[in-house]
Amino acid sequence: MSAIQAPRGTFDVLPADAARRAVLEDRAHRVLGAAGYARIETPTFEATELFARGVGESTDIVQKEMYTFDDGGGRSLTLRPEGTAPVCRAYLEHGMHKLAQPVKLWYLSSFYRAEAPQRGRYRQFWQVGAEAIGSPSAETDAELILLLAELLGTVGVREVRLRLSSLGTPATRAEYREELTAFLHAHEDGLSPEVVSRIDLNPMRAFDADDRSTAATMRDAPLLLDRLAPADAEHFARVRELLDAAEQPYELDPTLVRGLDYYARTVFEFASDALGAQSGVGGGGRYDGLIEQLGGSPTPASGWAAGVERMLLAAGDLPVAAEAVDLFVAQAAPEAASGAFALAHEARHAGLRAQMELAGRSLKGQLRHADRVGARYVAIVGPPGEGVGFRDMESGDQTELEARSVIARVLRGSSL
Ligand code: AMP
Repeated sequence: MSAIQAPRGTFDVLPADAARRAVLEDRAHRVLGAAGYARIETPTFEATELFARGVGESTDIVQKEMYTFDDGGGRSLTLRPEGTAPVCRAYLEHGMHKLAQPVKLWYLSSFYRAEAPQRGRYRQFWQVGAEAIGSPSAETDAELILLLAELLGTVGVREVRLRLSSLGTPATRAEYREELTAFLHAHEDGLSPEVVSRIDLNPMRAFDADDRSTAATMRDAPLLLDRLAPADAEHFARVRELLDAAEQPYELDPTLVRGLDYYARTVFEFASDALGAQSGVGGGGRYDGLIEQLGGSPTPASGWAAGVERMLLAAGDLPVAAEAVDLFVAQAAPEAASGAFALAHEARHAGLRAQMELAGRSLKGQLRHADRVGARYVAIVGPPGEGVGFRDMESGDQTELEARSVIARVLRGSSL
């Protein structure tokens, strides 16, 4: 029989990776916790309707990337492809509008998209995300951007660039959409067939296309940033002013398109030139219309998500501390097994990091193994009634102890 492998586009988090991920999680917790964001965890799957309504029917995610299944009772469920719609659902479901606003939440969770796998793009991946729900202010947007910049900085993500734009409000977008659609239809000859086929579904995507002819045609296309209503332009100017004051560099990118439908006003994306084709490490923006779209009353909100794997790919070394071992409990003979087991158990209960022999090695093999795992001390337990050989692995000195004094000796950390 051939061995079974993990599905395409998924990966195992092996211990060395797990340690780096734990460092990232700790930093996210520190950066976001310090700014008053509280952690939230939502279910791995949700009603499909949540993403159809919350992410947008015309998006790639909803059109072709969702893992959707029947729950056996005729209800359609979907593995979450993103975190914002679930967090907004939870905000509504738990009446968080009654709390002091904005409600500031963060998450670190797994997400699922049926994309073509490549380096930095997986079908199961993790994101750190932050959402501030209930504030319309430009300060909220700027604060969120600076928090993501801070996180990327503390994780050591290299060669980071921030792109920034504004999508205006839905009304402006609708008018602009008509203008852009008309422009695209008038210039179909210069566009790729794929772009032409999507003009009416999602004209903004034309800015995303990489083929030369489309890119050249799009240089003359009208820009949404030039069509913003005065209040939106003012909001955007304020965001920029705050970022400037914080000395956060950014590039204005009027063609910035986010893959999700729900954004309005501020949008941004951090990319790392240390990554290959999949250079986006994190992004987000303001999504004032989403909560209403999910059945709540109009509620302004803003947030971002950043890919854990991409952050780690673009980060340098993270200081991963090796797990120390205070005590390795060896057995001088098979009859010592119960005594050794009891000693290791008691040592852990006393707060020591203790391991015991579990593979039936010879005594010599056990000492070699204790050295390999970096044990500070080794207790060599003899048959019932006999003492314990206590070895200081730093000095190599060994002495005899009564079993009951081993733990106190390790806790004292005294050399022999
Ligand atoms: P999005 O939710 O599409 O705005 O993505 C936010 C961030 O999540 C991106 O910048 C990536 O870092 C990460 N990300 C999105 N999709 C994937 C994927 N399929 N595999 C790995 N990371 C992803």
